[in-house]
Amino acid sequence: MKALVYTGPEQLEYKEFDDPSPHDGDALITIERVGICGSDMHAYLGHDPRRNPPLILGHEACGVTQDGQRVTINPMVVDGTSRECKAGRENLDRNRSMMSIPPRQGSFAEQATMRGENLIPVPDGVDPAKAALAEPLACGWHAVRMGLDVGWIKNPKTLVIGGGPIGVGSALSAAAMGITDITVTEPNALRQSYLTKTCGFNVLAELDAPDSYDLVIDAVGYTATRETASQAVVPGGVIMHIGLGGGEPGLDVRRFTLHEVTFIGTYAYTYQDFRDTAAAIFDGSLGALDWTEERPLSDGHRAFEDIRAGKVAAPKIVLVP
Ligand SMILES: [Zn+2]
Repeated sequence: MKALVYTGPEQLEYKEFDDPSPHDGDALITIERVGICGSDMHAYLGHDPRRNPPLILGHEACGVTQDGQRVTINPMVVDGTSRECKAGRENLDRNRSMMSIPPRQGSFAEQATMRGENLIPVPDGVDPAKAALAEPLACGWHAVRMGLDVGWIKNPKTLVIGGGPIGVGSALSAAAMGITDITVTEPNALRQSYLTKTCGFNVLAELDAPDSYDLVIDAVGYTATRETASQAVVPGGVIMHIGLGGGEPGLDVRRFTLHEVTFIGTYAYTYQDFRDTAAAIFDGSLGALDWTEERPLSDGHRAFEDIRAGKVAAPKIVLVP
């Protein structure tokens, strides 16, 4: 089959690769659409020690099984026996594995394999490019859902820091869950105007008012955005930290202490969050989801370069094999 293969730092080659061989009940899936994730970019730059070349990256995929069923793929694999899995917190399983982390190849390819229980059937009439957004959207869904679980304010005034796919997913999830006052901050002017037009969000270049948001979602995760989150949150408010920008400081822990701020790190999604997100895509609760840009898989390397250069207005590029 043809695949976009990561062959070394900053190198992606569209070329012939071994066909995947399904084993142990795995389904063989013909990939229709696959999104580029921040973690794919991280690996492409050679910064992920778990992902060594040659490797097919990509884990945000929708495709068709051999019996003709369109599915969206939950790429997180757990065996279900751990204490965390039994509590429905699969994302915390220490032995979890992931599509595109060896030995599992990813889905920047014509075909991929995944076990049946990770496949969610897509109803007829749902665009595969939208179904492929289940994985990235589930991350934001999970963060907002947890933030609402721990917060005491029913309809929290919400700030999402960052207008990338995770930030957009968080804002859309917040709206789907009934939150009515949502602001997104995004410094990239190109993306700012794109989000205002396509999603109708209140998008600002930077924080407008400190001490005024009940729920703050840091979908970037750098020192500067943690500082913004620390300033933005109200007494008794909640900060959900979902961005993986870097491990540097930025938190005002003294302010958190004096104002009883809840700070929660959040990673990926539970299996239930993934199913709920897919259902919300299918029934339209997450909006039109027309903020993606499609490009051919064969031209995937250029897409990575353009994202890195900040030249892409759409929060997500979806590749078409
Ligand atoms: Zn992803």
